[in-house]
Amino acid sequence: ISQADRDLLLSHVRDIPDWPQPGVTFKDITPLLRDPAGFATTVRLLSEAAVGHDVTSVVGIEARGFILGAPVAYHLDAGFVPVRKEGKLPAETSSASYALEYGQATIEVHRDAFMPGERVLIIDDVLATGGTVRATVDLVRAAGAEVVAVSVLMELGFLRGREKLADVPVSALLSL
Ligand code: AMP
Repeated sequence: ISQADRDLLLSHVRDIPDWPQPGVTFKDITPLLRDPAGFATTVRLLSEAAVGHDVTSVVGIEARGFILGAPVAYHLDAGFVPVRKEGKLPAETSSASYALEYGQATIEVHRDAFMPGERVLIIDDVLATGGTVRATVDLVRAAGAEVVAVSVLMELGFLRGREKLADVPVSALLSL
């Protein structure tokens, strides 16, 4: 990523202190999404993680992973598969649960979302503790597909999410 692109992306991500709870600084990407150059650059750079991997399917993690993952899939001529929070997908699902700071979360994917041999790029906006992407990788593999890369807009390095993802290539456009 060039310094100019980095500056463009960074200047359109807004910090919201103490949201959704005290002590968390929420990285709000809505200013980036509404900026035509910012959005286009984000999609182009996220797609670069797929180079050389012959990606057939892009997985977007609810909800901001949908907004970013769908145009990446279009850009790559790949399909799009949503990974959703529990209870949202209408057909038969596989699920994975993981620990949050308080309580736990469950995510799901349709059981028939992948054909044999499918090569998957996982997209999300923020890699924080890594629990969400870890569970998504496990879910995609359990559904019979290969995870070839993970591409996120931002990585919150101090939360060490990458340590949970040693078995898959992870790229972040911005490391904060
Ligand atoms: P984690 O499982 O801790 O890596 O959290 C990742 C998920 O939570 C992603 O889907 C993010 O969209 C969201 N998330 C976690 N922390 C933040 C944050 N500080 N700002 C924005 N989104 C976040």
